[in-house]
Amino acid sequence: MAAALALAALRVTRRVTGAAARLQVREASGVSGGEEVLKAQQAAPGGAAPTIFSRIIDKSIPADILYEDQQCLVFRDVAPQAPVHLLVIPKKPIPRISQAEEQDKQLLGHLLLVAAQTAKAEGLGDGYRLVINDGKLGAQTVYHLHLHILGGRQLQWPPG
Ligand code: AMP
Repeated sequence: MAAALALAALRVTRRVTGAAARLQVREASGVSGGEEVLKAQQAAPGGAAPTIFSRIIDKSIPADILYEDQQCLVFRDVAPQAPVHLLVIPKKPIPRISQAEEQDKQLLGHLLLVAAQTAKAEGLGDGYRLVINDGKLGAQTVYHLHLHILGGRQLQWPPG
């Protein structure tokens, strides 16, 4: 009984700590959530210009990072659209999937495999969705290639 209570208390503490960390990341990023399509329409495709994700890679702004290797980084989305919402980004600043090149083939495969491994590690065994938004009509807001991992609830289809 005491052990069960201690475990429950630990879970609550973890949840509160996680929420506090997400709040800190959100405040630091200036992302307020919502209006994604409007933001996408206003976002300027900046070629190879550094984005907020470059600053997460060089650790000059905080992020809730789950995984990192020489080629990529996985962190929690600051404005989650599902109970689990992660972003997988290459360290190479490819602005968008439509600008990936033949030489990026290995890297793109690596991002997919890391996404699948991270989804499994996050307990998304019953399924999840990988999304890549491209350009204005694809509602891309950050012009540094990223895969969204969305899961933890029943997702609907088709998307909007
Ligand atoms: P997209 O609309 O596909 O370009 O997605 C960009 C995503 O990046 C959105 O889901 C944002 O919530 C997320 N995002 C923006 N800034 C940050 C940040 N500093 N940390 C984590 N996620 C972020």
